[in-house]
Amino acid sequence: MYNTKAYSAVSATSPLASDTIERRDPTEHDVQIQILFCGICHSDVHSVRNEWSDFISTTYPIVPGHEIVGRVTQVGSAVTKYKPGDLTAIGCMVDSDGTCPHCRGGLEQFCPNMTQTYNSPDKHKTAPVTYGGYSDSIVVDERFVLRVPSNLDLAGVAPLLCAGITTYSPLRHWGVTEGKKVGVVGLGGLGHMGVKFAHAFGAHVVVFTTSPDKTEDALRLGADEVVVSRNSDEMQKHTGSFDFILDTVSAKHDINAYLNLLRLDGNITLVGAPEKPMDVAAFSLIMARRSLSGSMIGGITETQEMLDFCGEHNITADVEVVPIQKVNEAYDRLLKSDVKYRFVIDMASLKSE
Ligand code: NAP
Ligand code: ZN
Repeated sequence: MYNTKAYSAVSATSPLASDTIERRDPTEHDVQIQILFCGICHSDVHSVRNEWSDFISTTYPIVPGHEIVGRVTQVGSAVTKYKPGDLTAIGCMVDSDGTCPHCRGGLEQFCPNMTQTYNSPDKHKTAPVTYGGYSDSIVVDERFVLRVPSNLDLAGVAPLLCAGITTYSPLRHWGVTEGKKVGVVGLGGLGHMGVKFAHAFGAHVVVFTTSPDKTEDALRLGADEVVVSRNSDEMQKHTGSFDFILDTVSAKHDINAYLNLLRLDGNITLVGAPEKPMDVAAFSLIMARRSLSGSMIGGITETQEMLDFCGEHNITADVEVVPIQKVNEAYDRLLKSDVKYRFVIDMASLKSE
């Protein structure tokens, strides 16, 4: 085992602060990575503050971070895909059983034995739970390490590992292509990637936002129209017209207002994960055979496909790079929807701790 610097929180109400954690020495299938950048996902905030305790409780101390980009420093003897110096990325998962039907189908995110990058029981027993990317270095089985296209800005790549794949996967799954009318609800980290992908897939994209000052940005990011969702007249103009809506909102809100905008057989997929349940009016669904579903990140093969697609189309996240010392401030701003459009930590800042 070896020591590495990190930022952790010791309770749901404590700020993140400097810490030292232990990582395992790379085993034969492991890749050791020096972390260069790590995105700040709203899930980090939900987890640090234990807001999802009804579904998954947080074990403290927690080291969050699952949008990781870094350089390989060491590989185990059986590693074939990577060598020291390679630019790599890690997303929300670091292990799965590899044998269940979901794993065999490339859907490791639904494996009953999937290990999340942080706050999952640590199979290697280095610590009670896995520790994420707000740290100097990480050790991960090569099956969960991804290749970074060489033409992309590295800070802008980090958010692709969660915000990117979480929006790419359902847009692909629900057949978003040219000629489809697609809504994206909430223009934050996930939402702005959803807009970029839906636009790149050729859809007519409508952004729903509670922040009128994001209108110009939404158009620049690839939206064809912007609706301020608090304006019911503007909302009603779109009744019964959408093929697909991707809902990325992080807090409880009225989803019936969006169900009513779907056409016959239209679907709305929730990727946002508010801590409280939301009401659904049966009539919003049954009147047009509409469906409501959910989606969680994406499998490893699809994540690599998404990264390669981003390389080909020159897609990265719009980021505000911050030093780790500003992470608590960034969390507060995220809660005020004040982010354009993803905070990314420059991990070099951890060296001065
Ligand atoms: P984010 O950057 O904070 O964006 C969320 C956006 O939702 C905000 O920018 C805001 O957009 C809108 N919003 C916030 N509060 C709202 C409210 N009370 N009513 C209406 N709109 C509101 O968060 P994120 O990192 O994109 O994550 C979004 C959600 O997805 C979180 O719950 C996160 O945990 C979840 N998530 C899920 C997965 C998955 O696999 N399913 C993966 C990653 C994240 P406007 O200003 O445009 O209104
Ligand atoms: Zn995330």
